[in-house]
Amino acid sequence: MDNRIKIGDIHIVGLTDGRATFDPRILFPDTSLEAWEPYYDIFPECFDGKFFRTNLGSFAISTKDKVIVADTGLGPHGDMFGFPAPGRLLGDFESNEIPLESVNTVFITHLHGDHYGWNYREDTEERKPTFPNAEYVVHTKDWEHWTSDSMKSDEPDDPLARSVLPLFDDGLLKLIEGQTQIGRGVDAIHTPGHTPGHMSLIISSGKERALLIGDIVGSPMQVTESEFFYTPDSDSELGRKTRNDMLDLAEKENITVLGSHLSYPGWGTIIRWEGRRYFQPLKNIKDRSIN
Ligand SMILES: [Zn+2]
Repeated sequence: MDNRIKIGDIHIVGLTDGRATFDPRILFPDTSLEAWEPYYDIFPECFDGKFFRTNLGSFAISTKDKVIVADTGLGPHGDMFGFPAPGRLLGDFESNEIPLESVNTVFITHLHGDHYGWNYREDTEERKPTFPNAEYVVHTKDWEHWTSDSMKSDEPDDPLARSVLPLFDDGLLKLIEGQTQIGRGVDAIHTPGHTPGHMSLIISSGKERALLIGDIVGSPMQVTESEFFYTPDSDSELGRKTRNDMLDLAEKENITVLGSHLSYPGWGTIIRWEGRRYFQPLKNIKDRSIN
């Protein structure tokens, strides 16, 4: 499948750290396995038997002035909710011929472990930033939340201590808040609820527009089941509101949405079918523009 799209002059490549399979009740404790049966035929790529099979996506966004990477996967640490994860993102950069040195900005939508895992190289003898010429952009509120005394961990394998905290010591961290342009035509906005400092990107060029929504939805199925209680949301009510607001906007304006956990390569549109919202993967957006 083609993993490249253009939004006006902005080129985007869909990359992946691989896929992880786990029990959906970990994320949706109020639901049964059977709740997802209606989606087996609609999104076969998202299921392994009755378990979710989740894309761990990342995006390389090239504007006129910058190469931006949005999220860096789960990393080489092998496990998500106790299930194996492949950690193949750097191989995907190589096969798509994107040099790690070419990246100017790493944009972290939020500080959950499946979005910053490859901030540092851990497959080499010397520990060093994966993207040696990049600044790493995080929202102030997420940084404050995860560096607060109650969240800090002394575990030697703590993912945050391994992949995020060193950014500060190495002078690579850039904290932002409010709407912030991170490249020409690429604006970060605060979309809290999943985490206190969760961010999305508005990508616009010419008449075209896309919305990178991070973990506002954790799977294509959640576009439809947006009301289910979702454990990873730090603020359940706000998470639900932000999710519904952003999906409403994308549906109403027919905007392309991109997300790490949408079906690889990670983009599509939001459509309405029999009164409910659905994610529709997008194969070709060459002719799309705002009406
Ligand atoms: Zn995630």
